[in-house]
Amino acid sequence: MPEKTKAIDVITNYHGKKLRIMEVCGTHTHEIMRYGIRSLLTDEVELISGPGCPVCVTPVGFIDEAVMLALEKNAVICTFGDLVRVPGTEMSLAGAREKGADIHIVYTPIDAEVYAKENPDREVVFLSVGFETTTPSSCIAVQNAMEDKLSNFSILTANKTMPSAYHVLKDFVDVYLYPGHVNAITGTKLCESLVDEGISGVVAGFTPKELTTAIAIAIKKSEEGKPFFVNAYPRVVTSEGSPEAQKMVDEMMEPIDTEWRGLGIIKDSGLKLKKKYEKYDARVKYNLPKIEGKGNPACRCGEILQGKIKPTDCPLFKKVCTPIHPVGACMVSGEGACSAYYQYQDM
Ligand code: SF4
Repeated sequence: MPEKTKAIDVITNYHGKKLRIMEVCGTHTHEIMRYGIRSLLTDEVELISGPGCPVCVTPVGFIDEAVMLALEKNAVICTFGDLVRVPGTEMSLAGAREKGADIHIVYTPIDAEVYAKENPDREVVFLSVGFETTTPSSCIAVQNAMEDKLSNFSILTANKTMPSAYHVLKDFVDVYLYPGHVNAITGTKLCESLVDEGISGVVAGFTPKELTTAIAIAIKKSEEGKPFFVNAYPRVVTSEGSPEAQKMVDEMMEPIDTEWRGLGIIKDSGLKLKKKYEKYDARVKYNLPKIEGKGNPACRCGEILQGKIKPTDCPLFKKVCTPIHPVGACMVSGEGACSAYYQYQDM
């Protein structure tokens, strides 16, 4: 495909039929906004944000479960920092912390297991959210806990897999920009097979050149009028992906129907630990009840995650809802679309 200048020529001069290209990944959304790539596009190309921010798609009920574990079961919650301010039905984890909950920020699930090992008198629960890129690390943390014979460590899973979301959203989208880091783990075979179902996509990297090239490829291939798949991130993504990571997750986890914020329950789109590992599953260990979370009805994250509206269409955007006082997950998360628009909309 084209050199950088040719890619820019393609995206700045396209005047064919209207195209909706969904950048599935929150990091893509941020990089596209940060580098001003949207401003290069013609009116015929619409870039829409998708459900690839793990914190954003995690439902309210998951936050409620974590708050319950922290306040009622006296567990130390180990979590990525972004989740702390995501609103639950009654309160966020930050609110729980004000009521005395012990919320500990970690950078990897493995850090959480180490924390549990260093604090044998405390029950420690890691909030395991994320897609194919982060799930293997949660599996390693559980393996480490087994090797260390820990009985005070468990994980609360909200891990998700991407392919089901591609099916659910396909009618809103002409071309997906597939998340390169997810494909680095999964490989490309599944995305290639989606072509047979009429779903088109390009695997994109994260630099300005990689993103403009991927968008240019999406435009040029769409002009051919038939479904397609292109791996435009071959320096990282292979057909096979990471067989080791796939094998470990297959061995330790199994698919379940799971809820996505905005998309509802999607069949077999989540993962939980298999029975053999269930003593590390916080829902089993603490016999958690099923919790139906209720989000703020004024927040429109759900529609944003489906690509139906842009953050700027939300009446609360930049007025009531800001990164300092976020109303919804898409403004809290560093990968959220509302956060990206807030930071870079005027660039
Ligand atoms: S701007 Fe705030 S309230 Fe509106 S959709 Fe985004 S996160 Fe929700």
